[in-house]
Amino acid sequence: MHPVSIVWFRRDLRLDDHVALRRAADASAKLVCAFVLDPEQLRGPRVGAPIVQAFFTALAALRAELRELGSDLALLEGDAAAELAALAERTGARALYYNIDYEPAALARDAEVTKRLREAHVEVHDAVDHVYYGAGDVVQESGKPYAVYTPYRKRWTARLAHDERHPVASRAAAVTKFLGRDASLRSREVPQPEEYGHASSLLYPTVTSAEAHRLLDEFVACGLTAYADRRNVPALDATSRLSPHLRAGTIGIRTVVAAALERRRISRAQHAVAGIDAWLGELIWRDFYGQLLAHRPQVAQLPFIEAAETIPYRDDPDGYRAWCEGRTGYPIVDAAMRQLRETGWMHNRLRMIVASFLTKHLLIDYHEGERWFEQRLADADLAANNGGWQWAASTGTDAAPYFRVFNPTLQGKTYDPDGTFVRRWVPELQGVPAEVVHEPGLLRPPAYPPPIVEHAAARQRAIDVYGGVLRAKGDA
Ligand code: FAD
Repeated sequence: MHPVSIVWFRRDLRLDDHVALRRAADASAKLVCAFVLDPEQLRGPRVGAPIVQAFFTALAALRAELRELGSDLALLEGDAAAELAALAERTGARALYYNIDYEPAALARDAEVTKRLREAHVEVHDAVDHVYYGAGDVVQESGKPYAVYTPYRKRWTARLAHDERHPVASRAAAVTKFLGRDASLRSREVPQPEEYGHASSLLYPTVTSAEAHRLLDEFVACGLTAYADRRNVPALDATSRLSPHLRAGTIGIRTVVAAALERRRISRAQHAVAGIDAWLGELIWRDFYGQLLAHRPQVAQLPFIEAAETIPYRDDPDGYRAWCEGRTGYPIVDAAMRQLRETGWMHNRLRMIVASFLTKHLLIDYHEGERWFEQRLADADLAANNGGWQWAASTGTDAAPYFRVFNPTLQGKTYDPDGTFVRRWVPELQGVPAEVVHEPGLLRPPAYPPPIVEHAAARQRAIDVYGGVLRAKGDA
């Protein structure tokens, strides 16, 4: 039994269903909870106001919870290895527990921390937590990782039959062990996003454990069984909205899956089971992209399909700006981009549409879209974001074939038939009747821009350019 252990919180900002916390509690007399702010990352180009606000809100809630329990969150700032080593020395901790993060930068940092602490004779223990199954748990018979979703999903589902991961009772195990609030936990206040250059007057999703559990309960009660039928219609708001919570870890993945499985066990109607399975399928996509990043970290920089490195993208700053600002003249694209800018979230169907539009209609490198999303999403997650972008750009695993170019007008008519969604986000289209609201060029009010590209020509150009590279290399 360790006299004192540190639990290092990272993308797991909760006390319930927390694997590292539970393991630390089982093996230690006292626990110190810590988080290390990394100013370089916070000021860097790959984060934006929504995710910074999400993490700071979640940190403040976690600290408030720990203070209510008579303890505190040691909120440190700077180099993680140096800060944690100093905390271990101050508190007399002999062990550090944390949950694994598959992002390459996180893995490199964690290797540094491990080295430094072991040199100081502090044990280091990591655990799988933020995905349901770890990267090594769902692999092919041969031991090779999967690069295609459908067989991965089959294997994942088969594993579930004999290896269900139940929510971990971490809070109960830890509650009597948190170190009392004393000088050794001295630390800074939770900062405001402005401190790192992320000022915003917009209200992004509230990311706390209480809100995550409220959303999950509401979704399981009202949305889950109808998910298969309603998930693609953005105006219905029929998805869980849990992504910012799963990103910051204000709810555990085992808790989320358990809620779906419990509902599945009591559901008789076929459509209800189909809804639940469709939702579980999305959570499996999340695990899939997690293991992909763990096994092939190079996807963070390069296309999964090697040949795609030579796609001759266009340099089109005006087109890119119009896309970012929701001024392309395609209502569904513009509504989606404005929803993103104003709320820090975008519906999945719309993410696919706008990503296809940028990479195919405008022929702009998917990395540019990926970066914009990183800075604008409250759920920005390297594994899922990169996976989604590479899928849309036909450069990734399971990628949409290069000749598949979403027709934004048709997508709008199919998934927003009466224009409710586009009118909500594009006020210029307020008075335009449903029959023509998605038709670029027809009955367009003067305040709304004409389409920046013509669909048929842009589609053909994309097929020619992508096909020229991918077909020739036999990769498409
Ligand atoms: P629900 O439909 O309720 O799904 C439940 C959960 O499953 C989500 O919260 C999410 O954690 C997971 N999930 C759903 N779809 C996917 C998917 N395709 N891939 C991986 N996980 C999924 N998701 C992110 O969490 N962060 C991102 O940065 C991100 N970027 C994306 C970029 C593009 C171009 C595309 C096409 C998709 C992206 N997604 C991303 C996936 C998906 O759009 C969001 O997870 C989803 O819209 C979140 O809304 P929700 O919580 O209501 O999802």
